[in-house]
Amino acid sequence: MLSQYHIEITFASLGDRFSARAMSAITYANINQDRLGGLIGHDEFHFDNNAFEKTYAYIEEQRALVVASLKSGDANEAWRAFGRFLHSAQDFYAHSNYVALWLDRFNGQPPTPPSEVDPLDPSLIHSPDLRSGKVYYLFELLYLAKRLRPYILPYTPRDSHAWMNLDSPEQGFKFDYAMQAAIKRTVIEFEKTTEGFSEEMCRLFLDK
Ligand SMILES: [Zn+2]
Repeated sequence: MLSQYHIEITFASLGDRFSARAMSAITYANINQDRLGGLIGHDEFHFDNNAFEKTYAYIEEQRALVVASLKSGDANEAWRAFGRFLHSAQDFYAHSNYVALWLDRFNGQPPTPPSEVDPLDPSLIHSPDLRSGKVYYLFELLYLAKRLRPYILPYTPRDSHAWMNLDSPEQGFKFDYAMQAAIKRTVIEFEKTTEGFSEEMCRLFLDK
């Protein structure tokens, strides 16, 4: 997903819960996952290459770091870890076929507004048909040049990130469902992370 949409999702879901300083640290850590060094060899940052288990493990590792950091009084590290794994959770909807599988139930006719999307339907999360886009580096590099896309896509494998992504509105109406699912998922991840926090941990984390 493009950085501007990660920012939009994060503010739409959490903007009124944290201080401006905390939101800034969380958002920076989130979009920094798309730095060049984070794009190469880090499927777990973006749910790429069908690395589902690896990404779930990464999310839980970072969530544990949020808790440990707050217990040692380090809010900055907690915000950074939280931002890092929110990036993965949000990319799930842009890089997998979850939204496509959810919409398939309605025979291609989206029956409801995008805000009705269920972000964690267990039968889809565990579906044998769930896939995420494979990253073919050469094709992805060429795909970045928008003018080249019409020439490159026909030669790019259909299971690639280039074909499957819902990274921006240019990808069509499914993008709106990916956005809404990512907003809901971000709230769920926030609630899961802060469950059981002491008053002091809440104060530190929310910075309010
Ligand atoms: Zn990403």
